[in-house]
Amino acid sequence: MNNDHGNRPLVERSLEDARPTILWTDRPDRPTPSDPLVGARRSDLAIVGAGFTGLWAAVLAAEAEPGRSVTVVEAETVGFGASARNGGFVSASLTHGLANGLRHWPDEIEQLERLGRQNLAELCETIERHEISCGLERSGDLDVATAEWQVPELAAAAARREAHGHRVQLLDQSQVRSRIASPTYLAGLFNPDTVVMVDPARLCWGLLRVAESLGVTIYERSPVQHIKAAGRDPGSPLIVATPNGSVTADRVVVATNAYRGPVRTPTRFVIPVYDHVLATEPLSDQQMVSIGWEGREGVSDVANQFHYYRLTVDNRILWGGYDASYHFGGRVDPRLDQSDDTHELLADHFFTTFPQLEGVRFTHRWGGPIGTSTKFSATWGLSKRGRMVTVGGYTGLGVGASRFGAQTALDLVDRISTERTELQMVRQRPLPFPPEPVRWAGVALTRRAIQRADDNEGRRGLWLRFLDRLGVGFDS
Ligand SMILES: Cc1cc2nc3c(=O)[nH]c(=O)nc-3n(C[C@H](O)[C@H](O)[C@H](O)COP(=O)(O)OP(=O)(O)OC[C@H]3O[C@@H](n4cnc5c(N)ncnc54)[C@H](O)[C@@H]3O)c2cc1C
Repeated sequence: MNNDHGNRPLVERSLEDARPTILWTDRPDRPTPSDPLVGARRSDLAIVGAGFTGLWAAVLAAEAEPGRSVTVVEAETVGFGASARNGGFVSASLTHGLANGLRHWPDEIEQLERLGRQNLAELCETIERHEISCGLERSGDLDVATAEWQVPELAAAAARREAHGHRVQLLDQSQVRSRIASPTYLAGLFNPDTVVMVDPARLCWGLLRVAESLGVTIYERSPVQHIKAAGRDPGSPLIVATPNGSVTADRVVVATNAYRGPVRTPTRFVIPVYDHVLATEPLSDQQMVSIGWEGREGVSDVANQFHYYRLTVDNRILWGGYDASYHFGGRVDPRLDQSDDTHELLADHFFTTFPQLEGVRFTHRWGGPIGTSTKFSATWGLSKRGRMVTVGGYTGLGVGASRFGAQTALDLVDRISTERTELQMVRQRPLPFPPEPVRWAGVALTRRAIQRADDNEGRRGLWLRFLDRLGVGFDS
């Protein structure tokens, strides 16, 4: 798909009433924020950030050791970051897909795949055991080819996944269109077992409830300003300080991902890449019949710049991706959640994909920062004499992988040697991003190269091949 807005009047009309807010959290029943942290508090474990990583770390720590006191400190509200504003695709992959995993950790891929499947199974088991009502749908996902050069890529992906034990179904043009009626589809690859869909905000709120029921204390609207040792003694605890209070803790997990947070080092390894999303009004029965989509699969196209889309429980279409952007200096700012150009481009591509939905209105438009690393997967770092761990960088597949990220972060900070802590993926940092202004220029160059590759039947130019050789990349 190209970047011209083919049908401007249709696009403009469709966005006229779209509210500049996140669909998932635009609800009267969202939980009331807890009180900010005031005064000094003592805790065995402090967790900074209440997205999926922070919430899973709290739940897993409290479940593993019921007597342990756990405190979570969140700058805004639970799920404020990427966690309550994403597409809700929960993938088993810990490596941003099998191909990326094979590229970076070929010797460990079987283990990473097994651990990923186990992570997804345990995540679903927790949702069910605690009756978290978050629209869990085991619908699988469907990759679609929308250009001829992508058809053999799908076949190659099918062979690769089958060789690693995935159940897959390769679909020709008529088979894929009989599942979902889009004139743009040329082929498809259905993956029934490796992705489930959730309502991410409801999952955040459910994990909050579970954490509190296990005795975890959560302070919202409490930005952590700095973390420092309470004394010179190597065993002295750490002080996690907010504007009006502090938590003194023996161990700290920093789970601020794409946000700058109170620790500087992670910003070398994880940068914020903005991604934007639209959601339609609920479709009528007639509109649903016109698109089929009875399997309710999550869908992604397989271009380098790709869209991801899905149905919500009330039959809206959530439609996001394609036009990822990085802002100089790693800027993260609520004003960047809105981008007229990107939202219009997304709307235009939506109507190209589903022309039969002409006239449908978008009700919500938003965006948010994705924490991206050069290997597109999580990275962990220990500091403060091993008493503090930072984790993040899941790129576009963090809803599931953040649980694994949290569990591994707890292993590391508690100095427990596990299968997870022995992984190369955990022990070795990815290449850091270069400092500004080289970082910004490099990302801009890479974006243009990716666009050119898509326009050029997927052929990767010199710059992308150079990055491939370095084993680094840029993605959302
Ligand atoms: C638009 C979009 C779509 C996406 N779609 C998908 C998808 O469909 N599937 C998928 O797997 N992944 C997706 N992702 C990625 C996924 O959402 C993230 O990888 C995941 O939510 C990361 O969780 P986290 O807890 O590490 O980070 P976050 O959810 O960003 O949490 C970090 C938290 O730290 C808090 N914080 C920051 N600074 C401080 C401070 N100083 N003190 C205290 N707290 C602080 C923030 O307020 C925030 O709540 C998407 C992301 C975006 C933005």
